[in-house]
Amino acid sequence: MSLATYKKKRKFDSTPEPAGKPTKVGKQLHFVVQKHEATRLHYDFRLEAEGVLKSWAVPKGPSINTEDKRLAMMVEDHPFDYRTFEGIIPEGNYGAGTVMVWDEGNYIALGAHDAKESDKLIRAGIKKGELKFVLNGSKLKGGFAMVKLKNDKTGKGNSWLLFKERDEYAKKIVITKKDKSAVSGRSMQQIENAKDKVWKSNKKK
Ligand code: MN
Repeated sequence: MSLATYKKKRKFDSTPEPAGKPTKVGKQLHFVVQKHEATRLHYDFRLEAEGVLKSWAVPKGPSINTEDKRLAMMVEDHPFDYRTFEGIIPEGNYGAGTVMVWDEGNYIALGAHDAKESDKLIRAGIKKGELKFVLNGSKLKGGFAMVKLKNDKTGKGNSWLLFKERDEYAKKIVITKKDKSAVSGRSMQQIENAKDKVWKSNKKK
């Protein structure tokens, strides 16, 4: 999978975001949800597949209430290393603003027995416009689904819906009210105030 679009949009001498390269399927597939205070606040939902992070911008953020269906606009693939990026994208750069790792963890495609099979199912699901997977994050857990909209008003064909499947993790609460980083425990304000600007993960991959 190509990261050409991702790279074209960014100047790596002026943004701390990773330039990155495609990765290989390991024992587990990862996901991340980044809260991104750019021109408009949104959440970036990313699933590891095809050696990159397949990415969607979710304006309202994910919900664990099964009654909610959240619009998710598919955007360019991001490098695998992006999943730990928390910090500031400086003014003048694409997506300038504060980025928080709001949630992260492993995931598996519904029905898959291992990461390899999961990767295959997710690739096929993206083509088909239908994804079902189980998240194991710190805020998001259990079954979720995504469907690509056929009548896409933007005309770009990249509108999807993201929603929670019924299971024991579905709750009628607003999960986005939990607003601290899953990796550093910081608020958006604390990330903004941090001198280092980019949070360095001590965790091993
Ligand atoms: Mn974003």
